[in-house]
Amino acid sequence: MAQGHSGHRTPQRHQGHTARKRFGQNFLVDQDIIGQIVTAISPKPGEFIVEIGPGLGALTVPLLAACGKLHVVEIDRDLIARLHQTYAPEQVTVHEGDALEFDFSSLPAPLRVVGNLPYNISTPLLFHLADYADRVRDMTFMLQKEVVDRMVAKPGEEAYGRLSVMLQYRFAMASLFDVPGTAFNPPPKVTSAIVYMRPLPAEALGCKNPELMGKIVTAAFGQRRKTLRNTLRPWLELEDFDALGMNPQERGERLAVADFVHIADYIHARAG
Ligand code: SAM
Repeated sequence: MAQGHSGHRTPQRHQGHTARKRFGQNFLVDQDIIGQIVTAISPKPGEFIVEIGPGLGALTVPLLAACGKLHVVEIDRDLIARLHQTYAPEQVTVHEGDALEFDFSSLPAPLRVVGNLPYNISTPLLFHLADYADRVRDMTFMLQKEVVDRMVAKPGEEAYGRLSVMLQYRFAMASLFDVPGTAFNPPPKVTSAIVYMRPLPAEALGCKNPELMGKIVTAAFGQRRKTLRNTLRPWLELEDFDALGMNPQERGERLAVADFVHIADYIHARAG
């Protein structure tokens, strides 16, 4: 990032807008990358698409050209004013406010959710969106590569953790391609990646008490080097591991998503 003479960081301006760090503003400028993202989304007329964080419209413009109508959710007042100036209301419906609090069930379904997400809220936003999975057709996002790696990681891999299990329980996901910092203004310090997410059919989910499963997963990954015997002590005695057919000396990082569902269902059935 550019430094001023005094050594202070000079605010980055893009298209006359000062990028706000607190809103995670890194604007896409690389037209090839923008084209690749829109190709990956493959928007069609008549689809219901919502873009989170349209900013100065790097993705909004080509999306609109392809599908003719769009919903957007933006928090920055200056950018909201520009969106209203730039697009006719019958083309772009601007929802003003925080995507973390936005009620996505107020939009038509099946919904396609897209965006170059503000990285500072990406994890809570993914969990918020997971609550609307039954109304969503698919989601295509740009995120920090490190977060995408955690989302798609498999058991035993270093990146495998709570985010992997809780999202893989709900979605089939694929990391599509990486995007270097040079594709943005201002450039973020980290590499980004595009991730595609498609909700799994409701009957595939299976878990009878997802909230309980969330607590178990959090405990199992809270102390990664501890065994299940230790991390799941609040719920399971040694004989429960026998009943589950699981090794109490195993670590959570080696369990598949289905294993966590199995444990949660076992505890749920026992309690019920
Ligand atoms: N889509 C634009 C692009 O690709 O150039 C901007 C992407 S920029 C990484 C993130 C955008 O999300 C900004 O427009 C920012 O103002 C907006 N934003 C940040 N936090 C938000 C929130 N909580 N809810 C909705 N929009 C948010």
